[in-house]
Amino acid sequence: APTETEESIVATSGPPPHFVLVPLVAQGHIIPMVDLARLLAERGARASLVTTPVNAARLHGVADDALRAKLPLDIVGLPFPPADDGLPPGCENIDQVKDNGHFLPLYQAVYRLAGPLEAYLRALARPPSCIISDWCNSWTAGVASRLGIPRLLFHGPSCFYSLCDLNASTHGLHERASSSAEAEGHERYVVPGMPVRVEVTKATCLGFLDGPGFEAFREGALEAMRTADGAVVNTFLDLEEQFVACYEAALGKPVWTLGPFCLNKNRDAASMAPCGRKPSVDQSGVIEWLDAMDPGSVIFVSFGSLAQKLPKQLYEVGHGLEDSGKPFLWVVKDSEVASPEAQEWLQALEARTGGRGLVVRGWAPQLAILSHRAVGGFVTHCGWNSLLESIAHGVPVVTWPHFADQFLNERLAVDVLGIGVPVGAALPVMLFGDEAVLVTRGDVARAVSELMGAGEVAEERRRKAREYGERAHRAMEKGGSSYENLTLLIQSFRRSGGRVTDNNGLQKE
Ligand code: UDP
Repeated sequence: APTETEESIVATSGPPPHFVLVPLVAQGHIIPMVDLARLLAERGARASLVTTPVNAARLHGVADDALRAKLPLDIVGLPFPPADDGLPPGCENIDQVKDNGHFLPLYQAVYRLAGPLEAYLRALARPPSCIISDWCNSWTAGVASRLGIPRLLFHGPSCFYSLCDLNASTHGLHERASSSAEAEGHERYVVPGMPVRVEVTKATCLGFLDGPGFEAFREGALEAMRTADGAVVNTFLDLEEQFVACYEAALGKPVWTLGPFCLNKNRDAASMAPCGRKPSVDQSGVIEWLDAMDPGSVIFVSFGSLAQKLPKQLYEVGHGLEDSGKPFLWVVKDSEVASPEAQEWLQALEARTGGRGLVVRGWAPQLAILSHRAVGGFVTHCGWNSLLESIAHGVPVVTWPHFADQFLNERLAVDVLGIGVPVGAALPVMLFGDEAVLVTRGDVARAVSELMGAGEVAEERRRKAREYGERAHRAMEKGGSSYENLTLLIQSFRRSGGRVTDNNGLQKE
């Protein structure tokens, strides 16, 4: 019997469409784009993920795995433009930045990838059917239009966030909030044009590329959004249908919801592992530990690939988990326990909580953990990938947003979906050098106990999370909304055969 891939190739005539994917150089952006590339390749399209040499090298496992599975998926490392302004050589991913002053030079170098991308595209035997470019990579817009290649934007977060951000921009909310003289930053603003009431503050309404020095990048990204041919989002209709519809209307172009990508059953977690850093315990050690725990009893604690806590804030997390009395699995970054004092402190905590607590230093197999029956809750920074991975596995969350889209993702989880307990973080934290202790051990212990506890409210939260998890699985199965949207997307580009047609073949049926 033909495999599903063969079936989809023979089902329609014409050459397979070729998608060129260009993620931003950060884990939270590369991981979903790799997943999307794999989904496209499995379903009969050709996919090329274009990045820089350091990031391409990290993805060699993905490329090897695709080769073994005979998938038309390749990873392309464009030459990285010479670094300037003190950016250390070899720093090609946001997770390698060790100094707040290096973000801007990294972005500037990334924006100079337009030339190498254009050279790569011109050298292809046939022009690709479509470029799928990260929302932040507005530099792809000029390349796509010069070569007459349709361009879809991929924005990492939910449609809820993207709609809030778009409406806030259109109605000047950012300017109004940032010019407010109110020092505390607690004044509330209602995001205009939303189908539900969404409140933000001066500090929490900020989105991507909102920092000082990034103004031109944000403007460029908004303009590239206006000129894109459509958008691809890692979400599913049954999660946020009203926001998908409003976002599509506000953009005035098709929005394809294709996720949750993490539920692709062929996804090889091991091949994704080099995307991150080395774990202190291997995957089987973590799973063995979870196997011994009661179903739904463990709280998983991790803050994504970027957010880092200085010791004072780190200690509050640890003591809070200890005080909650619940079994926990906590991911601590090596950089967070770099000092001998922090290491000593962590070892002492591990000794006190041994048996009911496991600390993973470095990179944890997050999907394997979230899909384990022992995990009953997740303390998350609300990065969209983490939040969606939790939702996809039916796990309710304690929300602790740090920056960018995360505060609005928290609103979605808590107010709209009803699957979250806020830890109470009201202000963003910078990545480095932020001494502020915004969340105390008492906050952590309270939120964890509330989430993991008994009682009707906690049960209802768990029930809702389970239901969204089931809907997420249905969306990705044959006949489900995301599965069928992917079919439509590939078909529409198959029709255009890699050439730009009048409507770019972009009508969603
Ligand atoms: N991740 C992981 N192990 C870790 C930390 C992160 O596998 O120890 C993965 C996580 O599953 C998610 C991504 O890295 O897919 C993080 O993306 P997210 O949007 O949640 O946050 P960001 O890192 O962009 O802040």
